[in-house]
Amino acid sequence: MFPEAPPEGMVPNCATAGVLGVLPGTVGCIQATEAVKAIIGKGDLLDGRMVFYDALNMEFDTVEIPQKSDCPICGKNRTIDSIHDVEYSESCAIDLERDTNPGVSVN
Ligand SMILES: [Zn+2]
Repeated sequence: MFPEAPPEGMVPNCATAGVLGVLPGTVGCIQATEAVKAIIGKGDLLDGRMVFYDALNMEFDTVEIPQKSDCPICGKNRTIDSIHDVEYSESCAIDLERDTNPGVSVN
């Protein structure tokens, strides 16, 4: 969707901007539901669509996201095959160089 990450420091990360504590749980439940649907092969997946969740007004919107042939993840000439291919040190991503939780694998 966004071909290039914004420059470092342009977008505040969760630690700087803050996160409504229950929001990750709500979004996580939606993601888990999609995963279960994909595994059992039932329902209409969010393939090609994006959900916007407005927690303050309890509204959901879904918009179609057309596939881009030059997408680095799903396009014809893929350049990103792994989270290891993305350099984004200011994001909320797992620090791949630091092994703070040996029970979690990012491979
Ligand atoms: Zn894509």
